[in-house]
Amino acid sequence: MKFYDYTDKVLKYLRRYIIHEFNRTEMQIRTDELNIIPKTVDLYDRLYDEAIKAFLKIAKHKYKECDGTDTIEIAWLMGLLKDANPITGYIFVNDEDRKRQYYTESLLSGGDVSRETKKAMRYLYGSFKEYADIVTNEAAMKAYSDTGTEFVQWNTAEDCRVCEDCREKDGHIYPINHAPVKPHYGCRCYFTKVN
Ligand SMILES: [Zn+2]
Repeated sequence: MKFYDYTDKVLKYLRRYIIHEFNRTEMQIRTDELNIIPKTVDLYDRLYDEAIKAFLKIAKHKYKECDGTDTIEIAWLMGLLKDANPITGYIFVNDEDRKRQYYTESLLSGGDVSRETKKAMRYLYGSFKEYADIVTNEAAMKAYSDTGTEFVQWNTAEDCRVCEDCREKDGHIYPINHAPVKPHYGCRCYFTKVN
């Protein structure tokens, strides 16, 4: 079983949900152009709620899989999502309005509805995917540290493109408190514990 198998399964569902909800909103906007703002506010609220639910499922699953002895609480997840993330460079929960406004403004300024919707969808899914990976990694690290693990090993994801920076770290062992931050967006390297 690969490190991101369950994450990918949940992401697949989340992606379908995003497409479905965007399509539904796109249809509503086409017939009711005066209500673009409330419709997109509602859309993004629902999508962010669903993403947070998905992240919690992912975190609980990974934590258990890594033999964590405690449990993952929503407060732990929200703490992670309210922090500035070194990989993405932004705060997840603060980004909802920015992403939504970008979409809303493109529609209000007369952009092609179908094209702008596809763009907004891709942009949002990209962010959700990145955070799903971040949550997966953080849940594993929490399980390791809750069970007294002192050292972790960096592993590159062999199934995808690996950058120079990551390849150099493959197999390296670090103290858990000094594990390096992932060097780039989309990095699917992961840590395993060293006993
Ligand atoms: Zn990597």
